[in-house]
Amino acid sequence: MQELIIILLLLVCAVLIYKVKVSRSQPATPSNEQNTPQETDLTNAYLPLGEKRVIPESEHQIPRKRLDDNAMKVVYRLHDAGYDSFLVGGCIRDLLLGEKPKDFDVATSAHPEEAVELFHRGRLIGRRFKLLHVRFGRELIEVATFRAGHDSDENNNGEQGRQADSGLILRDNVYGSIEEDAFRRDFTVNALYYCAKDYSIYDFANGYPDLQKKIIRMIGDPEQRYREDPVRMLRAARFAAKLGFEIDPDTAKPIHQLSPLLARIAPARLFDESLKLLQSGYGAASFRQLQRFDLFRYLFPLTHAQLNESEWPTATLVQQVLKNTDRRLEQGKSVTPAFMFAALLWYPMQERYLRLLDEKDMPPLQALHEAANQVLSIQVKSTAIPRRFSAPMREIWELQLRLPRFQGKRAEHLLSHPRFRAAYDLTLLRESAGEDLNGLGKWWTDYQQANDSERSQMQRSFEHNTPKKRRRKRRKPVNKPHE
Ligand code: ATP
Ligand code: MG
Repeated sequence: MQELIIILLLLVCAVLIYKVKVSRSQPATPSNEQNTPQETDLTNAYLPLGEKRVIPESEHQIPRKRLDDNAMKVVYRLHDAGYDSFLVGGCIRDLLLGEKPKDFDVATSAHPEEAVELFHRGRLIGRRFKLLHVRFGRELIEVATFRAGHDSDENNNGEQGRQADSGLILRDNVYGSIEEDAFRRDFTVNALYYCAKDYSIYDFANGYPDLQKKIIRMIGDPEQRYREDPVRMLRAARFAAKLGFEIDPDTAKPIHQLSPLLARIAPARLFDESLKLLQSGYGAASFRQLQRFDLFRYLFPLTHAQLNESEWPTATLVQQVLKNTDRRLEQGKSVTPAFMFAALLWYPMQERYLRLLDEKDMPPLQALHEAANQVLSIQVKSTAIPRRFSAPMREIWELQLRLPRFQGKRAEHLLSHPRFRAAYDLTLLRESAGEDLNGLGKWWTDYQQANDSERSQMQRSFEHNTPKKRRRKRRKPVNKPHE
């Protein structure tokens, strides 16, 4: 009897061992793996595109407390309603790098119309790319449905998906599986999915090894992906600057040739991108990357045109303003697009201003307003500038004319101007770029630090020589038509 039991036990063991072996040797299919990761590749080896790598928590070591509570609430709410959902994109990339993510994005199998039903504070936005926004106080969680590519005609010419002959994606609402969603993301390091069920990370595009190697690599054929959305060129430059990563040579190669495609992008989108590039804490590095790929010209054409002209210290001012902005952000100080745009466009405005004074003999204030109009109307063809920023830009420029005239009560008046601080900062920047303003910046620095009696003495005694009007030699008209 005992022997029989032993034989039976041995048989059961053999069957169990066989089952485990068979399940391990089965190829990983994305559908059976989605919620039950079975195969874990802990190495940094590159897998064929689409093959799923599961990085368990013990390997990636993202502390759970660093996951955003509100984003996790959204993920769990979608799970409870029976949908797949993951934290995805830049937040996972940044957490793996030990950085604080700027925002948290969620990807889900729920369609936007299904997902919106689940959240009181949910709102559908966008036409080109339909999204759900879930608001928690000041925090916004973006929930995107898994997208698929635009391969078939059916996907390419309808309500959901539309692509121009040039390859540009006009509408991107073709839904698909998580793998398809991974392939339509831009760079491999941006296509990592965090599964809140088992705290592992799913990688379908070799984002994990690229992250270890610090490489920005486009998913798929780079040229085609840039044609679909030229903004990806700016994003490549941005992530290289922000993360300090190298851009893979195949990803970098088409950028020079395709950069003119950026001229077709809506100015409002380029305004948003320019802020992400230049006003997110790594503006100086972004500028270097933009210059490396000759992309800056598509954001600031007038500034770009002056960069190599020795007549204007534009390059120095641009570098100074970006460095200052980076420093302020690092110190937790506020920054405003109005100041950055006013500074970046200062010399293009100044060039027109001087020309109007010179050629049209306009009074200074009128010339300044006219020059501001001219510059802004050209700039908004590249990047839109909402009025809440263009109005203070004009004031900052106008104050450059008024700051040298501080005699009597004017100084106090100027000091209380809501744009005084920005105008004063621009004056300091102009001086550090090499403009001779006759000690104007120092006068205002001293004035702000002085007590009441010192101030009234400064107003009386200091004879500040307003910088002389810079007269330029009248240029011979170029391209004059032959008579
Ligand atoms: P950050 O928020 O730090 O600027 P991010 O990678 O999160 O960087 P977002 O603009 O927030 O960038 O986009 C979130 C994710 O959406 C990206 O990580 C990427 O996967 C995808 N994505 C965004 N823009 C594009 C695009 N133009 N083409 C393809 N995928 C994109
Ligand atoms: Mg993000």
